[in-house]
Amino acid sequence: MAKTFKGGVHPGHFKSATAGKPIADANPPARVAVLMQQHIGAPCEPLVEVGDAVKVGQKVGDSQAFVSVPAHSSVSGKVVELRDYPHPVGRPARAVVIESDGQDTWHESVKANPPLEELSGDDIKKIIREAGIAGMGGATFPTHVKLSPPPEKPIDTVIINGSECEPFLTADHRLMLERPEAVVFGLKALMKVLGVEKGYIGVEDNKPDCVEALKKAAEGEPVEVKSFHTKYPQGAEKQLIYAFNGREVPSGGLPMDVGTVVQNAGTAVAIADAVRKGVPLLERIVTVTGPGVEAPANLRVKIGTMVSEVIAQCGGLKENARKVILGGPMMGLAQNTTEMPVIKGTSGILVLTDKEVHIHEIQPCIRCGRCVEVCPVSIMPLVIGSATEKGYPDKAEAYHAVDCIECGCCSYICPAKRPLTQWIRLSKGEILAKAKKK
Ligand code: SF4
Ligand code: SF4
Repeated sequence: MAKTFKGGVHPGHFKSATAGKPIADANPPARVAVLMQQHIGAPCEPLVEVGDAVKVGQKVGDSQAFVSVPAHSSVSGKVVELRDYPHPVGRPARAVVIESDGQDTWHESVKANPPLEELSGDDIKKIIREAGIAGMGGATFPTHVKLSPPPEKPIDTVIINGSECEPFLTADHRLMLERPEAVVFGLKALMKVLGVEKGYIGVEDNKPDCVEALKKAAEGEPVEVKSFHTKYPQGAEKQLIYAFNGREVPSGGLPMDVGTVVQNAGTAVAIADAVRKGVPLLERIVTVTGPGVEAPANLRVKIGTMVSEVIAQCGGLKENARKVILGGPMMGLAQNTTEMPVIKGTSGILVLTDKEVHIHEIQPCIRCGRCVEVCPVSIMPLVIGSATEKGYPDKAEAYHAVDCIECGCCSYICPAKRPLTQWIRLSKGEILAKAKKK
């Protein structure tokens, strides 16, 4: 029996529309809007002004803060605007808008690095930071920060997360299948930074082709590929670690508290490109899918391309399209516009139709306990949800609302259609804001 974690649910996979489709290049955009906040942490300040000429790979935004990463131009051309754009996961953010000259001229700073053997761990970490790499599974946490544990928290395990447990999404699946050696190289670079002798890649057992490709690429390398039971949210960091080695990240803790670092498969490929070729994070694979889009696809999209343009390249929206979600259906966020740029964490563009979007009346809790059974972090969604609904934030805090990983399992399973995840997310926001004030 493949390894797994406590709780979780088994939603339909809905991956067949794109799982067999090779990654294709998206059409080159005429202009891109490079957001200054594409990661968790301090936003970048623009390094360019309107009228400046820029080249591909040129840094156009950066910050002095440790928890931040720079942003780069994905085209060559001219800066035409500095303006706010809607942000997929929050308030509008500043963007450097660049009109492409269609030449894709590389910036002089983009050049190959010495071989991995000749680079020190610190050299690699610096390359990763300067390449603007942040977790590409959607969390967008700056990668170099995860690679800087304090001395009292030594790391002995590095795992590449190839679970891609969200229904509909196949971007990582295709990347692991088409560039398995880059995944292995990225892992080896991470191992060198952290001084770890052996690395691991975890893939759900609904992707046997990836497991096979990765095993082949890992032959002769200090890397082991492991298959996990397909269950949502297998790709959540803490759940992956538990399934992998039985270590439990403590409440409020981080993977480094149990000697482990987890990085997404797409992040590993971005690290490989940065370390080998000196190419910063300029593009990502986006799964464009769902019953509301005409021609689902896995596209290699330049960062800053408008979501509307990407959808248009996939035949556009069907007439009955109702909802656009960035990410998957469980953890992705519904958007009220498609005039926003693709960012480093945009793993998918999911379009649902009238048929899948239902408005449910919220019913009283029938105390069936299903939400507790499926909660992978073993908290009490029914109690925290009710506390939030009735305006008792202290109770929500006492019941560990902050441990919620917002996986959506409780809302998914609740027969009374109670919006538990949304309620708990609200409480979490209030609790964290209160703690910050203190
Ligand atoms: S699943 Fe819904 S109805 Fe059942 S206990 Fe939880 S909140 Fe109540
Ligand atoms: S309470 Fe949070 S972690 Fe638990 S099932 Fe609900 S969304 Fe997931």
